[in-house]
Amino acid sequence: MDTKALLEWSAKYHTPNYGRTPIVLVRGEGTRVWDSDGKEYLDFTSGIAVTSLGHCHPVVTGAIREAAATLLHVSNIFNTAPQVHLAKLLVEHSFADRVFFCNSGAEANEAAFKVARKYAKERFADDRYEIIATHNSFHGRTLATVTATGQPKYQHGFEPLMPGFKHVPYNDLRAMERAMDSRTAAILVEPIQGEGGVNVPDDGYLRGLRKLCDESGALLILDEIQTGVGRTGRLWGYEHSGIEPDVMTLAKALANGIPIGAMLCREHVAAALTAGTHGSTFAGSPFVTSVALATLTTIIGDKIPDRAARTGHELMDGLRAMQKKLPVITQVRGQGLLIGAELTRPAGPVVDACREAGLLLLSAGEKVVRLAPPLIVESADCARALAILGDALARDAR
Ligand SMILES: *Cc1c(COP(=O)(O)O)cnc(C)c1O
Repeated sequence: MDTKALLEWSAKYHTPNYGRTPIVLVRGEGTRVWDSDGKEYLDFTSGIAVTSLGHCHPVVTGAIREAAATLLHVSNIFNTAPQVHLAKLLVEHSFADRVFFCNSGAEANEAAFKVARKYAKERFADDRYEIIATHNSFHGRTLATVTATGQPKYQHGFEPLMPGFKHVPYNDLRAMERAMDSRTAAILVEPIQGEGGVNVPDDGYLRGLRKLCDESGALLILDEIQTGVGRTGRLWGYEHSGIEPDVMTLAKALANGIPIGAMLCREHVAAALTAGTHGSTFAGSPFVTSVALATLTTIIGDKIPDRAARTGHELMDGLRAMQKKLPVITQVRGQGLLIGAELTRPAGPVVDACREAGLLLLSAGEKVVRLAPPLIVESADCARALAILGDALARDAR
């Protein structure tokens, strides 16, 4: 079937909720993907920070084949070895004592909200259920997570929103302190705001939030759905801050593209989720947890976060050098391989021009070009991406 007809059918048969790029992707390998016309692209999107080991990594593909031929799905009323091993690996390599599996980032945040509410009600008071999140955050698209998301454009038309959420400016400890009261069950932030523009907070921000939580008994929930699993140059984004959360949510990169989410928490928090209080049919199947186990074992064993930190420095240095020559770039920010270049103008046309030239990029907010290549990206591919982006910006600036 030809590309033009597929694009017509895409426009005709899908709900129109995605602003889709007019190409059809058919194959991927490492840092590259190919479209239905045979055109090759460097993929600096990784499916929005998902395919961190690159497309069709042999270890991941091997795990998929083996798990599919062994045991695809059984209910969570039974135990399976891959789910147990994955939970153990996550606990051994993080602050957490317990893990709940689910199928997406939004579901991981839903689990975090439910456990925070139940914990606060049982431990403190019945009216202690509020969660304070931040402006420009992104936490998902379900009704509760879109309520938590601090961007009205995602909420418009879906009112009434969920009760029990408040928002304060990001990176503002005083605002958070003022907003907290006897109803505050938890604080919810991303260690770096991904979707909201790759916003990196000041050094003391997470430490300050930790202190506010310790003083008040509120839980610190970190949404590491985008920053987690090595993306920022450490296995977890919070490792840069010297503090640990009470709850952390994961999804995107955890199984390199197979859908999975996870809510990790401390023992006393987990205790609120007694038998029967939460669950999900597909969650943590032996198939998906086998693939996540292969992914996470590779990321830890091959020291992929260190590699992401090194390559991230190269890429940021390259962008900062470009900024000196191209004033259309106002700021370069990020950590590891989650990088944003803020422009004086909308990022969309630049992303389009790069795609035409063979480089796939993301935007984040209106004016930020977001670079999130696979964590295994080679220096030569970063240099090539910088050349394509530099050309597109130089042409766009004229
Ligand atoms: C992508 C993302 C989500 C939502 O994840 P889904 O799997 O799309 O539900 C939540 N929080 C952050 C920080 C994200 O980047």
